[in-house]
Amino acid sequence: MVAGPPLNDEGQAFLVKAECPFLVDSGAFGEVAFQNVLYYGVQPSELEVLVNTHAHVDRAGGDWLFHEAGVTVAAGERDAIAIQRGDREYTAADMIGVELKPTPVGWIVKEEALVCGAELLLLPGHTASSLGIYYEGVLLAGDLLGPLCTKWGSEGEAWIKSIEKALSLEPNVMCANNECFYGKHKVRFMLEKSLEMGPPWLEECKPKN
Ligand SMILES: [Zn+2]
Repeated sequence: MVAGPPLNDEGQAFLVKAECPFLVDSGAFGEVAFQNVLYYGVQPSELEVLVNTHAHVDRAGGDWLFHEAGVTVAAGERDAIAIQRGDREYTAADMIGVELKPTPVGWIVKEEALVCGAELLLLPGHTASSLGIYYEGVLLAGDLLGPLCTKWGSEGEAWIKSIEKALSLEPNVMCANNECFYGKHKVRFMLEKSLEMGPPWLEECKPKN
């Protein structure tokens, strides 16, 4: 982990040392993630890619810093648009109170792929095109466990399917919503509990019907 609780107050960011090193998210500002990448002995030029689980500013706010260091930024299709525009609503800048500096996205992820031998998964629901990374029993799932808001392109049916996909992987460890859950049973419990409670729409931005 290179940023986020328990290290600091930003969204979680991870350095994955798979067949090659890559980053998952960049925190709200990027400086802490950047320093920690160096601390773990990796130069930004060695990073294969920076994969954003989604466009929220607590996760993608540091993208610009890595982009300036020559790292390719990747995001799901709709989330990439928000990162490139610095869309205040979609990136939740209006709720979090931190602006996302518009950043070019070099890889717009439209289908599942391998990144340095790790599985890049489509996990829409929390935002329209949220992504996850699965590697050696560890699932980095962004904010898979909610909340949902129409301003982020959240979608209840997609959210259910993504939770079911996460369950089918039977991860040993899952990091979601700025927490990590350890052990197959605990992870399954968290996912099943979420499914049981249903899509966690925020009251102020529920779909109208
Ligand atoms: Zn989020």
